Amino acid sequence: MSKIVFFCIPAHGHTNPTLGVVRELVERGHEVLYYSYTPFKEKIEGAGAKFVACDDFDAEQHLDPKDAVRVGKDLAFSTRLLVDTTLALDDMVCKEMERLQPGCIVADSMAVWGKAVALKLGIPFVSSTTTFAFNKHSAQIMKQSLGQMFGMIFSMGKINKDIKRLQDKGYPVKSVLDIIQNDDNTHTVVYTSPQFQPCADTFSDKYAFVGPSVRPVTEQIEKNKEKLIYISMGTVVNDQIGFYKNCIRAFADAEYQVIMSIGNLVDAKELGEIPENISVHAFVDQIAVLDKADVFLSHCGMNSVNESLYYEVPLVMYPQTSEQGGVANRVTQVGAGIRLEKTSPAAIREAVEKVLSDPTYRKKAADISDGFKKCPGAKGAADKILDTFTKLS
Ligand code: UDP
Repeated sequence: MSKIVFFCIPAHGHTNPTLGVVRELVERGHEVLYYSYTPFKEKIEGAGAKFVACDDFDAEQHLDPKDAVRVGKDLAFSTRLLVDTTLALDDMVCKEMERLQPGCIVADSMAVWGKAVALKLGIPFVSSTTTFAFNKHSAQIMKQSLGQMFGMIFSMGKINKDIKRLQDKGYPVKSVLDIIQNDDNTHTVVYTSPQFQPCADTFSDKYAFVGPSVRPVTEQIEKNKEKLIYISMGTVVNDQIGFYKNCIRAFADAEYQVIMSIGNLVDAKELGEIPENISVHAFVDQIAVLDKADVFLSHCGMNSVNESLYYEVPLVMYPQTSEQGGVANRVTQVGAGIRLEKTSPAAIREAVEKVLSDPTYRKKAADISDGFKKCPGAKGAADKILDTFTKLS
């Protein structure tokens, strides 16, 4: 039996794909300790891991929702935040890892403190990447906008100061790239298929593309019209009251059933009167909805897109961050959806009807779904982690 430690950032999208892997490792008799944040305790324990709360150790890091938006958009800000969190957790995490002597650390690609402590203590390390893997080839598709590139270049000075703070604490990081991307020597689990990952053949054999870990349907929802439209901007950047109102106007009293998940930053009461064919929720069982949906109007979070394609649902895409923009580019490339160009009610309706009326989009989504289903999934991720542990320890 081995001891395996997971680190993750406080985000559903980064936590969910790891839960199947935790379950698999525990079922194989390994002990898993999972360092995360209290709102995620229940689901982590549900997967069979021992939960360890990081909340108290970086009390100053609590993000408000606006900060969470900036993380996706502003590299200097994200680096500062990641470095601050790493240093705030440094003492506790280093002491605990020295005491526990885990066989392997598995850290989300954004939970830099996990990778940093593994580097510092020489513990075998696996990166858990819930987005597309990133190198100079796939970057072409994940392309950041010109404005963001300039922002990044001008903020490099600030970033380098933050990197120095890590170096001063004994972390062997040379540049920001060491922490925000993995090189060809880092063992990396990527939760997508080689077919959907852009330029998969340009990554080294240290990368395992295990496919998304999409949970099966457990609830049934009622479909009461021929076509069901699902709308969600995810769980982070979902403060979009104007957009939700336009969606309601776009489909008010239309011959479609519409389910909207708006998150908890917007109060449904602020949306005015909701027509009978539309239902608005703070959170839905997204898998149950996708099982019945005909189109998904999505912000293009990686998990939402994986889930949508897995259930063969084509997309209309309204990305909010550069990462989501990259995912949207890839979906467009494989032909499984289109971008929403404008957010007026007429433009929303036109884009949704375009996808509904052309079966090619669904067919392309089904092709990607087939590729997902051929992947080794959580079992493959567990094999990769155990393999790394055996090779390096
Ligand atoms: N989700 C859900 N119900 C909702 C909205 C979201 O279950 O009403 C889940 C969704 O299935 C996905 C995750 O939350 O697994 C969102 O992750 P994603 O990467 O798509 O976006 P993020 O919320 O991180 O922006």
